[in-house]
Amino acid sequence: MLNLVLFGPPGAGKGTQSNLLIKKYKLVHLSTGDILRGEIAAGTSLGLEAKSLMDRGDLVPDEVVIGMISSKLDKNVNANGFIFDGFPRTTEQAKALDILLKEKGTYISSMISLKVSDNELIKRLLERGIESGREDDKNEEIIANRINEYNNKTAPLKQFYSAQNKLSEVEGIGSITEIAERINTVIETI
Ligand code: AMP
Repeated sequence: MLNLVLFGPPGAGKGTQSNLLIKKYKLVHLSTGDILRGEIAAGTSLGLEAKSLMDRGDLVPDEVVIGMISSKLDKNVNANGFIFDGFPRTTEQAKALDILLKEKGTYISSMISLKVSDNELIKRLLERGIESGREDDKNEEIIANRINEYNNKTAPLKQFYSAQNKLSEVEGIGSITEIAERINTVIETI
């Protein structure tokens, strides 16, 4: 199985690159942000609970997203592999993911971390906010909070995967195709 963590701050291009990778390597895309937005759209109690946190740019509780990932893994027993996009975001989540995958007889193959400067992230997210209407992409204060959450709680995960010799950093500036080629080069070496 090829199990990738596509990593990076909000606006780094994880969703865009995931969409290319799932086609090329026939993987299942698991984006906790997309799953949560689906819950909000469906008006579930989980969605209701998550919405106010997401609108502020705060992380939702670990147990909520870990439960969501666990049930998606159970539903995709025959997958070639998974792309984890926006998950894990805390050490607690990364540890839980290792355990869940181990129970299924598999493991994370690699973490690919996209590197993009804060100025570029803010520019991209504000543009995306205009196109998508996403509440958390609409103003700079919320975006700053999301970047802050990333720096404080999520970026330390690079150390977690680097300690397992699984971290590859990829320059996230350039055309979509250029970045995809850089990612493919990393995957070819796994
Ligand atoms: P994203 O689409 O990945 O940028 O996620 C949008 C929002 O959903 C985040 O700002 C968080 O509020 C929430 N979220 C998504 N994934 C996670 C996660 N793994 N842990 C905690 N909160 C998450």
